[in-house]
Amino acid sequence: MKEILFINPIFKSMVWGGNRLRTEFGYDIPDDHTGECWAISAHPNGDCTIKNGTYEGKSLSWLWENRRELFGNRNEDRFPLLVKIIDAKADLSIQVHPDDDYAFKNANGSLGKTECWYILDCKDDAQIVIGHNARNKDELKQMIEQKRWNELIRILPIKKGDFFQITPGTVHAIKGGTMLLETQQSSDITYRLYDYDRLDNGKPRQIHIKESIDVIKCPHEDEPVGGYIIKNEMCEIRELISCRFYTVKKINLWGKQELIQDKDFMNASVISGEGEIDGIKISKGDHFIIPFGYGNFILEGDMEIVISYI
Ligand code: ZN
Repeated sequence: MKEILFINPIFKSMVWGGNRLRTEFGYDIPDDHTGECWAISAHPNGDCTIKNGTYEGKSLSWLWENRRELFGNRNEDRFPLLVKIIDAKADLSIQVHPDDDYAFKNANGSLGKTECWYILDCKDDAQIVIGHNARNKDELKQMIEQKRWNELIRILPIKKGDFFQITPGTVHAIKGGTMLLETQQSSDITYRLYDYDRLDNGKPRQIHIKESIDVIKCPHEDEPVGGYIIKNEMCEIRELISCRFYTVKKINLWGKQELIQDKDFMNASVISGEGEIDGIKISKGDHFIIPFGYGNFILEGDMEIVISYI
């Protein structure tokens, strides 16, 4: 019988982070401005270890290198996805990510970054930055040079349960009072366009105007999201996005349901409630990978799970 690989998350302190990863997810976080939980990651900047079983203590990158059969013998040179939970107490910088091609050439062979956000929770009148109002690159450059940020930046209202796809070249920022689950390519390349002139340890954080202008798409176009919904008395499965980098689905369970893992591997994050998978207790904040060839599994309980695969 193949084992489910439970993951030990890694935490990152950020100038904009808070303490909700402890107060709401029960994690042992390093301090009260912890912004990110790297929940499923083999990235060198945060390589998670396995919590249980045969591979306890091994890193996810080690497993990818040495036990590739757990991932359907996929041929990517690194574990391709990264799942995070973000607690933004304050606003994140206005930023943009490169695509694979630009990152490979300009960021030491890194992957580009396509990412998507499932809003776990947010304050009543919460907002998010997605897109900009420049019609072309010249206008974009002008607005940046003249620091016309309010005119440039496009702000949208959000609520719990919203979902957004952020492709490379999309200006974006999470704003304060928001917790979200992010599924992304395994990349850590961010170009900061504007950081509200904030100081971090007495100094402004690095800004990347040239790279930002290089990669920002003009004009902005929203990415379509959403897919099919399957529902019965026990469970609802909703496809949130399917793109060339990942498919993300949300499972809403209120009973017992048999499902199948027939992908190369499947990432899973319990985002609310508790229950069991094949008799193993799971609850909000647990993250695991169901390996290749696992086949059918039984979920039981009252919980919401976000899954991703390629
Ligand atoms: Zn981003």
